[in-house]
Amino acid sequence: MSAKKLIAANWKMNGSRALVEAVVQQLTSLNSTVDVLICPPATLLPLFPASARYALGAQNLSEHDEGAYTGELSATLINETGATFVLIGHSERRQYYGETDQLICRKMQQAVRSGLTPVLCIGETLAERKQENTEQVIAKQLAAVYASHPELLLNSVIAYEPVWAIGTGESATPEQAQATHAFIRRQLAQYDATAAVKVRILYGGSVNAENCRALFAQADIDGALVGGASLKPSEFMQICQSAKD
Ligand code: PEP
Repeated sequence: MSAKKLIAANWKMNGSRALVEAVVQQLTSLNSTVDVLICPPATLLPLFPASARYALGAQNLSEHDEGAYTGELSATLINETGATFVLIGHSERRQYYGETDQLICRKMQQAVRSGLTPVLCIGETLAERKQENTEQVIAKQLAAVYASHPELLLNSVIAYEPVWAIGTGESATPEQAQATHAFIRRQLAQYDATAAVKVRILYGGSVNAENCRALFAQADIDGALVGGASLKPSEFMQICQSAKD
C-alpha cells in the first residue's frame, strides 16, 4: 500500500568485489520510481559508492552497543559503512543461529535506537503451513516485537518469507502471498493503525524475473526481498524494473 515499492537484495554469504561493480553498473540506468536496497556481506558494504539509486543494509546486527563480542557487528559499526538498513530475524538466523523472538525484539530496538531501518523477517515452515498454523506463527512473531514496542512499527519494513519458499524455487502463489500480507497488515493495525497502513510488507521466497510481476500486482505486496536472483545483476535489474508503478 506504500506509494513506492522496495526491492531488497539479500546476498547472504555470497558476492565479491566484481559483483558489487556489476550491480552498481546495472543500477545506474534505473530510474527512481522504485526503492532499491542491497544487503551484501558486511565486508563488501564499503565498496559501494554512495548513490541515490540504492540504499545499503547489513544482514544482522548485535543487540549490544560494543564490547567483548567476537565476530559481532554493532549498529555503530554498521552505520559507519554507510548502511542505513539491517535485516533482522531472517529464517536462516532463526534456524542456524538459534535466534529467538526475544533476541529479535532486542535487535529491533537496537536498530531503531541507532537510526537503522530494520527489515523484520517472519514466516512459517512447511510443517506449520501444512498444519494450517501459518497465521498463528506469524501473529506470534509480530507480537513478540510490536506488542511491547508498537513504536518500532513506524520505522520498520516487514518481509514475509515463508521458509518453504526460500531458496527452493517454489514461490508462494500471488494469492497465497496476498492473503498472508493482508493478515499481517491486519495484525499490525492492532499495534499502530496509522503505521500499519503505510508499512512496507515485502514478499520473499524464490522471487525471480518471471514470477515477480504477478506478486507486485497484489494490493498488500509492497516489494520483495530477493535472495538467489539478486546475485544475477541483469535479473535483479529486471525485478526492479517490474516493480515500477
Ligand atoms: C532470502 O534468503 O531472503 C530469499 C528470499 O532467498 P531466495 O530468493 O533465494 O528464495
